[in-house]
Amino acid sequence: MKIHEYQSRQLLAAAGVPVPPAEVVETAAGAVEAHRRIGGRVVVKAQVFAGGRGKAGFVRLCADPRETEAAATFMLSNRMISPQTGPAGVAVRKLLVAAAVDVAAEYYVGMVIDRTRLCPVMMVSREGGVEIEEVAARRPEAIVKEWLHPHLGLQLYQVRRLAAAMGLDAPDRFKDCAATLTGLADVFLRHEASLAEINPLVVTADGRVLALDAKLNLDDNAVFRHPEIQALYDDSEENPAERRARAAGLSYIALDGNIGCVVNGAGLAMATMDLIKLHGGEPANFLDVGGSVTPEGAVEAFRIILADPKVRGVLVNIFGGIAKCDLIAEALISAAREVGFNVPVVVRLEGTNVQRARRLLEEARVPGLLTATDLTDAARKVCAAV
Ligand code: GDP
Ligand code: MN
Repeated sequence: MKIHEYQSRQLLAAAGVPVPPAEVVETAAGAVEAHRRIGGRVVVKAQVFAGGRGKAGFVRLCADPRETEAAATFMLSNRMISPQTGPAGVAVRKLLVAAAVDVAAEYYVGMVIDRTRLCPVMMVSREGGVEIEEVAARRPEAIVKEWLHPHLGLQLYQVRRLAAAMGLDAPDRFKDCAATLTGLADVFLRHEASLAEINPLVVTADGRVLALDAKLNLDDNAVFRHPEIQALYDDSEENPAERRARAAGLSYIALDGNIGCVVNGAGLAMATMDLIKLHGGEPANFLDVGGSVTPEGAVEAFRIILADPKVRGVLVNIFGGIAKCDLIAEALISAAREVGFNVPVVVRLEGTNVQRARRLLEEARVPGLLTATDLTDAARKVCAAV
């Protein structure tokens, strides 16, 4: 689960990380008022989950309220497109107006779970800012790491090593740097994050250490333990179909192709998508209706998939293990009656009660429904039909 920069910086500030004063606004007029209250120069920043805002023009340094008004108007009326958003971009609903600072140097500080070592790792670099992805790809040695003991957390000797790696170990810088690193580790561990980043952490022209950006992703599997984090959830950027699928307990991911997939089991869903591609098609979605799929769940899956205007055909691939094939066949028939199949639907059923399922489908004579003998046959048929 992602939360916004303004929410992340509040959590970091509460943990002792120094951040510049800032306000969150939703209108250009609000941004102007915030600028007047903060005074001096400000930075106006779009609050969206995708990064790459700086390069996309959605982080702007504004010297006076007129510039702030123009920047805010631009951001609230244009979609932000960056390498992290996809071609359609994302709408901006909230802006952070923060006191601007004169930056002398930019650093990167981040934390993730190291899946190989099975513990959190803190990473720092002297080469922070908007090019950190390039640094990571080209010069990985410029990123210095310390692995945290899962119970002991970040130790002071590690803080010293990381501060030294950034050149922030002199007495005047160390205190703020240490507060930043320990605060970040504290927030990461306490809220069970999967990623936490301050990029850039800066030293200002007048020698202060400040976190100018904050990014926090929380582990979806742990969010239930943190009602205070759940309360921060904002689903406005989520794909509407994905939101609807989640409410129905389906795991669905929208894709760019035109063949809808209804499959039970994540592995089978992946294999189905592979086979569609092998036979020249493009899947419109990943969908795992779950091992114990119910008729209601299956009908809702059809509603979601057939509501996608890109979909030109559907492949239903169900292995009846816990779910019974005849029950799926009944769900298909009621989905056809209720939703209506406006595109060809190819069905491959195998497993428990498959004979009865095939009989039910034959007798129902659902228009648009084609049966397949096996998975390859199903993939060929749906690709040909599309
Ligand atoms: P991102 O591009 O989405 O990661 O957005 P950031 O919040 O990191 O902002 C992008 C860049 O804007 C930073 O790397 C800084 O170089 C710059 N920036 C942000 N705030 C300030 C500020 O207060 N003063 C100055 N001079 N630059 C800033
Ligand atoms: Mn950044």
